[in-house]
Amino acid sequence: MDITVIGTGYVGLNAGAGLASKGHNVTCVDIDEEKVEKINDGECPIFEEGLPEMLEEMVSEGKLEATTDTVSAVASADVVFLAVGTPMDDEGNINLEYIRQAAEDVSEGMSERDGYQVIAVKSTVVPGTTEEEVLPILERSGKEAGEDFGVCMNPEFLREGTALKDFLNPDRIVIGELDEKSGDKLEKIYSEFEAPVVRTGLKEAELIKYGSNSLLATKISFINEIGNLCKQLGIDVYDVADGVGMDSRLERSFLNSGIGFGGSCFPKDVRALIRFMEEEGEDPKILRNVVELNQGQKVKLVEQLEQKLEDLDGKTVAVLGLSFKPGTDDIRQSPAIDIISELKEKDVNVKAYDPEAMENMEQRHPDTVYTESYQEALEGSDAALLVTDWPEFDEISRKDLKTMENPLILEGRRMDYDLPDDKTEGVTWP
Ligand code: NAD
Repeated sequence: MDITVIGTGYVGLNAGAGLASKGHNVTCVDIDEEKVEKINDGECPIFEEGLPEMLEEMVSEGKLEATTDTVSAVASADVVFLAVGTPMDDEGNINLEYIRQAAEDVSEGMSERDGYQVIAVKSTVVPGTTEEEVLPILERSGKEAGEDFGVCMNPEFLREGTALKDFLNPDRIVIGELDEKSGDKLEKIYSEFEAPVVRTGLKEAELIKYGSNSLLATKISFINEIGNLCKQLGIDVYDVADGVGMDSRLERSFLNSGIGFGGSCFPKDVRALIRFMEEEGEDPKILRNVVELNQGQKVKLVEQLEQKLEDLDGKTVAVLGLSFKPGTDDIRQSPAIDIISELKEKDVNVKAYDPEAMENMEQRHPDTVYTESYQEALEGSDAALLVTDWPEFDEISRKDLKTMENPLILEGRRMDYDLPDDKTEGVTWP
């Protein structure tokens, strides 16, 4: 099928490359000319495992191309995915400005299309958005939804770091549909995928995405609450999580205690659901506490540092890991952002290192020292804060500790290195 994906970020680009690898002809659209140029040169604009190779292959085989010309890309497509960002505004509400603009651009292309096509929202949007916001804009094309074109809501569940693999091997494919014809057409795109397909209404599909992310975020905050108790008791929260996770009614995953969740999805999605529930007259008691607990969890590492070093003024501290999780260069809502801000407020000299995310963090914190390696960050430091569990940090050795002014690593994430117990301490474990 001829598929157009609007927005070539983490979701759009992985989906575009993945669909091209299944034999579809894919056009990726973005307003960012530099991104479009890079993609057409077979270069990957983001860091994601397996994506550069797949992108290069698909571009060179002529299965994928990129453009800034939304109108012609839409006019030639059987199915159009909207995969632009849906960030949060200052009050935590979902910001629909990009999705509205993209829908407007798409409606222009639709008026030039002869014949039926399906427009599918892939961006995460609160219930009602597809039907009440996007659909009326699409009808500005002069076409009627359910007659001349179909509408679907097809949420994406990929995780950054394993995005392409996740896109190609999902646990389930959720298709929210305006009518059966829309859903049938969209389902055909996924005929080569092995996952079960869940067909629902548009609002159900929208809420399945928020339900999933909010429950995952709740598990993290829950285990962090237990972890904070473990810290008081001097016991290891990972032993507790392992025991809890063996219960067949529960799942061990997402019970890894630490400094909480970040990223471009959980923080904004949980807050958007809270605001949406409030507008609907509901009282989101659990989710409010999930957010509050997560906020406090991030800076616990700095509190712990203060207890250890007493006066932080003028001290040098290595921050290891800047991306919100390993395997990505994405720093959106990364705990490292707030941790560096807190350290700077306390007049700490920060030396930061990350294998992939330093360029992005430099835009956020330009006056921080960025080092070439974790060894360089550790050298001469009074302590190190381990913020992201990149596998290379498992290699930190006793020899590296000896280069520190004061050998001490405070762990915000659980690592698997072999270091003396009295030189390391976890945020929620001994
Ligand atoms: P992103 O910010 O990485 O990418 C969005 C892209 O859309 C950018 O390249 C931007 O230039 C482009 N864009 C904006 N307006 C446009 C327009 N009118 N026409 C063409 N391009 C336009 O966003 P993302 O992380 O890929 O997320 C996209 C959506 O998917 C969001 O709703 C997000 O919540 C959801 N989601 C994200 C993830 C994730 O892990 N990142 C996972 C699942 C779902």
